[in-house]
Amino acid sequence: MNDSAYIGRFAPTPSGYLHFGSLVAALASYLDARSVGGRWLLRMEDLDPPREVPGAQDAILHSLEAYGFEWDGELVRQSDRHAEYAVLIERLFNQGLAYACTCSRKQLEGSGGIYPGTCRNAGHPDRDAAIRLRVPELEYRFTDRVQGEFRQHLGREVGDFVIRRRDGLFAYQLAVVLDDAWQGITDIVRGADLLDSTPRQLYLQELLGLHQPRYLHVPLIIQPDGHKLGKSYRSPPLPADQAAPLLNRALRALGQQPPAELNGATPREVLNWAIAHWSTARIPRSRTLAEAQIR
Ligand code: GLU
Ligand code: ZN
Repeated sequence: MNDSAYIGRFAPTPSGYLHFGSLVAALASYLDARSVGGRWLLRMEDLDPPREVPGAQDAILHSLEAYGFEWDGELVRQSDRHAEYAVLIERLFNQGLAYACTCSRKQLEGSGGIYPGTCRNAGHPDRDAAIRLRVPELEYRFTDRVQGEFRQHLGREVGDFVIRRRDGLFAYQLAVVLDDAWQGITDIVRGADLLDSTPRQLYLQELLGLHQPRYLHVPLIIQPDGHKLGKSYRSPPLPADQAAPLLNRALRALGQQPPAELNGATPREVLNWAIAHWSTARIPRSRTLAEAQIR
């Protein structure tokens, strides 16, 4: 592949502000793209209004700007893509590849998060119900550029999964696959909390005849108590006046070795150094990294 054809992306969810863990993921995807002269796109994954923190979208954009990130093209919002998701779900439903599930949360308790297939052949109408995609009894595997080989048996370890919730909201798994393909993404660089989601996304790509991107999952930054940053654990926004030191710290989390004098540099200077010295071979091959361990 011609490296100038590289298209990467950062896809934050506005259920919170950017925090140190999302900075690490944004930085890795940005550097991986820019170090080969590739494009870097920004997509707001605003699929879940009830969980959206008011003002988070603007705060995320401001943080990215304060930290020196420049994205290519217009920001894409998933809230503008509902028609596309709906058409696809209807098609999958009509083809029998997906089905309506009326199970209550209570009914699903005790199945360990793996859907037992209760509604698989029930023929419920597509109304007031969640829509689940049937998964094949197959193992999906891929080679992550940092984490190495990853495999997951979709039938045994995941089960039929929700692509449209009962409340009508579209699921991340479906939207991410459709949008990555629509935006021509060649390389996905993101946090290792999404390793477990990748086989579902590979299956969707296969089902829809979409190109499979390359994957690179960076360690997830965790708190001393084992919490991951962000999401349920509400982190404060990244301080705008700490951009250079925090970019340097994020670089060290990624195994890069920025010289000490970059702490006093501008964010742009830190990024320029990092683009020129980016080495994926130095990224820690672990799924998590304790925040306190980063120098
Ligand atoms: N929106 C997802 C998140 O913030 C990331 C999606 C992705 O990179 O595939 O966790
Ligand atoms: Zn069901």
